[in-house]
Amino acid sequence: MSVRVRFAPSPTGFLHVGGARTALYNWLLARREKGAFLLRIEDTDRDRSSLEMVQAILDGLSWLGIDWDEEPVLQSAGIERHRADAVQLLERGFAYRDFTDPEELRRLREEDPARALVYPRSQADSLPIGEAEERARADVPHAVRFRVPPGETVWEDSVHGVTRFRNEDIEDLVLLRSDGTPTYNLAVASDDADMGITHVIRGDDHVSNTPKQILIHRMLGRALPVFAHVPMILGPDGKRLSKRHGATAISEYREQGILPDAMVNFLALLGWSPGTDEEILSRAELVSRFSLERVLKKGSIFDTTKLEWLNRQHLARLPMESLADMVLGELGEHRPRAEAWQAEDSARFHAAIELQRPRSASVRDLARQLSVYLAEGVTFDPAAVAKYWEKSPGVVVGQLQAVREALEGIPWNAASIEEALRGLAETQGVAAGAIIHPLRVALTGQGVSPGIFEVLFVLGRERAFSRIEAALQALRSRAG
Ligand code: GLU
Repeated sequence: MSVRVRFAPSPTGFLHVGGARTALYNWLLARREKGAFLLRIEDTDRDRSSLEMVQAILDGLSWLGIDWDEEPVLQSAGIERHRADAVQLLERGFAYRDFTDPEELRRLREEDPARALVYPRSQADSLPIGEAEERARADVPHAVRFRVPPGETVWEDSVHGVTRFRNEDIEDLVLLRSDGTPTYNLAVASDDADMGITHVIRGDDHVSNTPKQILIHRMLGRALPVFAHVPMILGPDGKRLSKRHGATAISEYREQGILPDAMVNFLALLGWSPGTDEEILSRAELVSRFSLERVLKKGSIFDTTKLEWLNRQHLARLPMESLADMVLGELGEHRPRAEAWQAEDSARFHAAIELQRPRSASVRDLARQLSVYLAEGVTFDPAAVAKYWEKSPGVVVGQLQAVREALEGIPWNAASIEEALRGLAETQGVAAGAIIHPLRVALTGQGVSPGIFEVLFVLGRERAFSRIEAALQALRSRAG
């Protein structure tokens, strides 16, 4: 039987780190097994659900590259089927109508919790035969409760192994509320069966729902899916990850310039291990290596330093074609100029990207660094100016003029540029640094940059010369 899994978010908030990881594990299993990954939007809480949130969740998944099969299912569309399942359970004697007054039950819960647990059933069982159906036909308000059978509910959890619950600890859960709406456990069991789900992979926080859903499946005579409960993600303090620890919405990481592949790699390792100490894994490697057996039993700590590190690793491995496109997307006002640059001289444009890539934490950061080459003029950093120009502006003017002469007419590549400038330093009897530092300020406005020969090459002859010219003017006006 082919694998069919689902991600079942409630659209009451954005896609969060925990949900994204649950989605990812389901997706990895489906893709590995060549099965289907389905989406079910659990929108039965009408007041708290919104279409905007549904869209935000779908956008988050798409950004992560987690694609789904078939049309997303709306849980609210299945209400009639959920009700029909409850009626079937009633007919088979595995559920009963509960006419207890909610207020009375609430009072009893406070006074005698143990008795409150068995009270609705004892009331139902004390009704004469046929009475409950008669009252229901007369529209007397009531809930429908599941009649939890005696014994034990046991399953082999793919993560935690054999897991047991004593049925006596499970209350007769409500299946239909008095307004006829289905409850969470009925809806989920009914939908999982209807969608042909083979594996339910979800957070540990659902473990206590699982025996209830298993019992519902059993009493309806349906096959059971495999269950796998993945551990919660923890904050640095070891407590369950929450907003208090910082960004938890996936969109915030997108905003920060984290790459989808880095996020996927990071999420995969938050609760799963490849069985080796490898950490940088591509999407394809994750798909081929993922297994539920290697999901960890204990929660892992969400470590943003590791995410940033992984982001650099994935940035370093991105093929130039995709990287260049992504950089263009982040360039804002400089984009048209960058596009023209790429069209005229893609080798030099790509060299500029390569030059900044190892120095960048993200694509956005890289784009920001490229703006130094793209900007119309240079913005001088006062600290750099103070350090490398101000002591002897007259000397700097002379040097920049000499640089201009040395570069005149040479072939425009980093090696020739280096040769020309080193030759100049030698002729002048100064250390190369004495020429390079003031020149760096002239070309970039800054005190630090990648190697100056590469910077000159990437800037291009024309722009390099016009920046030297502009620096000379600035220096002359300073010198008065
Ligand atoms: N809607 C539930 C949640 O967001 C998921 C239920 C499930 O996966 O069974 O936690």
